[in-house]
Amino acid sequence: MKTPAPQWLADGLAKIWLPYTQMKGMAEPLAVRRAEGVRLELADGTRLLDGVGSWWTNVHGYNHPHIRAAIGAQLETLPHVMLGGLAHEQPYRLAARLSALLGHGLNRTFFSDSGSVAVEVAMKMALQYFLNRGAGERKKFVSFLGGYHGDTLGAMSVCDPEEGMHALFRGALLHQYVLPLPANEETAQNYLRVLDERGEEIAGVIVEPLIQGAGGMRMHGAKTLRRIAEGARAAGALVVFDEIFTGFGRTGTLFAFEQAGVAPDIVCLGKALTGGFLGLAATVASDGVFAAFHDDDAQKALMHGPTYMGNALACAAANASLDLFEQEPRLAQVRTIEKLLREGLEEARGLPNVADVRVKGAAGCIELKRMPERETLNAHFAARGVFLRPFGKILYTTPAYVTEADDIAALCAALVSAAGIIN
Ligand SMILES: *Cc1c(COP(=O)(O)O)cnc(C)c1O
Repeated sequence: MKTPAPQWLADGLAKIWLPYTQMKGMAEPLAVRRAEGVRLELADGTRLLDGVGSWWTNVHGYNHPHIRAAIGAQLETLPHVMLGGLAHEQPYRLAARLSALLGHGLNRTFFSDSGSVAVEVAMKMALQYFLNRGAGERKKFVSFLGGYHGDTLGAMSVCDPEEGMHALFRGALLHQYVLPLPANEETAQNYLRVLDERGEEIAGVIVEPLIQGAGGMRMHGAKTLRRIAEGARAAGALVVFDEIFTGFGRTGTLFAFEQAGVAPDIVCLGKALTGGFLGLAATVASDGVFAAFHDDDAQKALMHGPTYMGNALACAAANASLDLFEQEPRLAQVRTIEKLLREGLEEARGLPNVADVRVKGAAGCIELKRMPERETLNAHFAARGVFLRPFGKILYTTPAYVTEADDIAALCAALVSAAGIIN
């Protein structure tokens, strides 16, 4: 027997507007009353194994005591004061730690509240970098098909126009050069040709290193990433890596770019930055980028400042999350998960509805030819005690790094059997 939904859900459903959802006739969302480790506890007491990690933010398990304690301690003294004219410890410590972890002269962190804004800030930084150096004709960006960089207007302009649900707005967005990833000889030549012909207009090249996440869990190799960076540098453009999805261990190294031996001029961080507790994002610039702003001329300052930037609770959560990366074997856990996902998802290859199976780090997907109805999938996953949320033609899991082997096996089994649904 189904327990009735809680009253707040019934009342609020008529008032709330949900993300990426046709509200008419939509499946009712699952009411969660508690989350602990890798499990969601629903209002009716059902416990589900979470294979998504709340849009890829939850890497240490829900409600991790170390992060909870850090936020609690911060809450006692200083939940928030503004970053203009006032300094407080957590964002300053976090900026210093991020620069030590990133290396490569990525020494200036600008905080914001969401990944999309971190991308906007990166784009604005790149544009003003050239303005400040008297090269204001560099106003455009190169980005890649399959890419996703956020939902605000500037970020939308560098997303894949078809995949990113943004095709609708095409005429209203800035025009950029959105190219096929230079993953083979032909696409590499195309990339270099655009840079050759248009190079003087290009302020930056932006890419999600190694995994294009929300655009379809598409994966590329280190060589492709190196090609992108080298081409951009040869054309005098800045290299912007959007590590909002890939950062903090998802691909098996703390940052994906480490695997390619190339570093960006600007990197965007978000999602798992706080271990999934609070919204926080960062745009980190190299010394070279910062130098173009560091000047006697006040006009050359970066004119940007989100109201809640550097929020003390969010930065305390991020510092505590970085502690966990130091104290616990997170990257080794990701490598174990990678192996388990490879074995577990491989069974889907060859099924009639399966187009591809891809795994990198703690991210695995099965690309289908045809996606079953959402209701069918929801029922399928619920019956197996898991929470998974496919998109487009992609069945995927991005589990927390603390997920145990038998739980990874359960996620794989749920995905492989979903890939076998004939409809
Ligand atoms: C999620 C995501 C963003 C946008 O972040 P929000 O916090 O949702 O604004 C940007 N880039 C990438 C690669 C992402 O995965």
